[in-house]
Amino acid sequence: MRLLEHVAKDILRRHGIRVPEGRVATSPEEAAEFARRHGRVVLKAQVPVGGRGLAGGVLFANSPDEAAALLARILGTRIRGYAVRKVLVEEAIQVAREFYISLTVDRSERSYLFLASDMGGVEIEELARRHPERILKIRVDPFEGYRRHVGRRIAKFLGLARDSWEAVDSIASAMYRIMLDVGAELVEVNPLALAADGSLVALDAKILVDDNSLPRDSELAKASREAYSEAELEAMDAGFSYVELEGDVGIVGNGAGLTMATLDLVKAYGGEPADFLDIGGGASSERVERAVRLLLANPRVKAILINIFGGITRCDEVARGIARALEGGARKPIVVRMVGTNEEEGRKLLESAGIAAFRDAEEAARRVVEIVRGGL
Ligand code: GDP
Ligand code: MN
Repeated sequence: MRLLEHVAKDILRRHGIRVPEGRVATSPEEAAEFARRHGRVVLKAQVPVGGRGLAGGVLFANSPDEAAALLARILGTRIRGYAVRKVLVEEAIQVAREFYISLTVDRSERSYLFLASDMGGVEIEELARRHPERILKIRVDPFEGYRRHVGRRIAKFLGLARDSWEAVDSIASAMYRIMLDVGAELVEVNPLALAADGSLVALDAKILVDDNSLPRDSELAKASREAYSEAELEAMDAGFSYVELEGDVGIVGNGAGLTMATLDLVKAYGGEPADFLDIGGGASSERVERAVRLLLANPRVKAILINIFGGITRCDEVARGIARALEGGARKPIVVRMVGTNEEEGRKLLESAGIAAFRDAEEAARRVVEIVRGGL
């Protein structure tokens, strides 16, 4: 589970890492009121994706009026596909330098791994591609725990003067404690800023919590739901794996591998997937109906491709689910590829509902892309 920035920053603050003073605002008045007390402020759209800076989700305001106006402007818009429902308003920090620092789990080495770079603000994937030599990696053996030399090595690598070593050490050790306290898979501060006054401030924070550790913290489990759209929450509650993407071809599959392959096929034929939706094995007609309704309700989806390999999943059950989803009245073109258990029966059911079923996945993918592209 991911957390929104403001939730992640609360966790950092509780563990002694300095973050800018701020508040969550949902109205222009709240933003103006905060700006009156703090002067120049930053407004940050609370959406669960990075790259907000470039997408217009991080704005600076020099006066309370400007803060109010900017808040009114970004509230309700979409940043990289996510509706902005909350904005974090923070004191603007005077930044001298920006760093990257993160702690993650290195499964293959059975250890934790710190990454640090003096090129903060850039996404780590891009950094790793373009400047791997600018990334420091330090493993921490979970049986030994955090050791002070880690912070010192990071500080030296970042080129910080000796009087900042202590501060880097306390940030790194706090990140390690957060990792264990919330059961995180990732704790990332990007950028960590060296402020003009010489202090180190976490300007952005990203925490991914291991789903398996959510039951131990109901507050956190509740807070993490904020980072998901309505549809994603519904999918989660249904037990589907669902990820919204930026295209217009809705995709449903049974099994993660098959669903992935379906996305690839649609891409290969020139289409853009609108989602990844895996309904899992042995899906009942109710679950299929729920999945299809989810995509029918998504305004971005222009047509739906359903790819089913019937093993324990029965094609007739799937067909019944699809037909029932359409009884609600909402209609979008649906293309089905279906093979396996009770295939003939499933096909007949679909035909009587006016939906063509393919046996070949490539044909089905080509067809759905034709429909979306050509409006056929
Ligand atoms: P992201 O683009 O979604 O990762 O959002 P960030 O929170 O990292 O913000 C993007 C960029 O805005 C950062 O890399 C900083 O350069 C800048 N930024 C954010 N907050 C402040 C601030 O308080 N002061 C200054 N000077 N820059 C900031
Ligand atoms: Mn960032």
